[in-house]
Amino acid sequence: MSARVVMLGMPGAGKGTQAARLATALAIPAISTGDIFRSNVANNTKLGEQVARYIARGNLVPDELTNALVADRLSQADAADGFLLDGFPRTIDQAKFLAAHLADNGTRLDAVVELIADPDEVTRRLLARAKIEGRADDTEPVIRQRLAVYDESTRPLTDFYAGRGQLVRIDGLGDIEEVTDRMLTALREHMAAQVTE
Ligand code: AMP
Repeated sequence: MSARVVMLGMPGAGKGTQAARLATALAIPAISTGDIFRSNVANNTKLGEQVARYIARGNLVPDELTNALVADRLSQADAADGFLLDGFPRTIDQAKFLAAHLADNGTRLDAVVELIADPDEVTRRLLARAKIEGRADDTEPVIRQRLAVYDESTRPLTDFYAGRGQLVRIDGLGDIEEVTDRMLTALREHMAAQVTE
């Protein structure tokens, strides 16, 4: 199924894991801005140098840099018929940029899937992940900052997309497989309903 999808959710909601699984099931590329930034930092690219300090502090990379990165990534051949964006947009400006960019190319988002999680649970998960993956921004003060940034800048996106009739909310609680199935079912229903509208 060709689909243009955004995944929303708090840090630690299981977004990355579920984005990868959903993208595989739909045969579309999963595009994680966080992963792209991290690989640029690891490879000491110019972009990596520009973004490292934001990531290390749990702050957002400026919209200008992020939007340019996403526009470039979406112009690649594998994203022509569909994609799943994980971690973008994170601000209303980014969401508006994405809508305009897609409209310029004669397309639009099919759905925005929000993975709902409990704030206490996500903090616990992030601290556990820090031990396994060793991500530099999974320390307690930086996690706290990332959650605050989510509340302030990213949470308003749920209303933004709900207002446009694009939001599909999914309970993120349960087995990994169960949550993926829940997302796939809800997404298919949402897209089928749009076709018949
Ligand atoms: P993530 O892997 O999605 O948790 O992203 C890790 C970090 O990369 C974030 O805390 C931000 O510093 C940066 N980042 C990722 N995506 C974005 C975005 N859409 N806008 C701004 N900063 C971002």
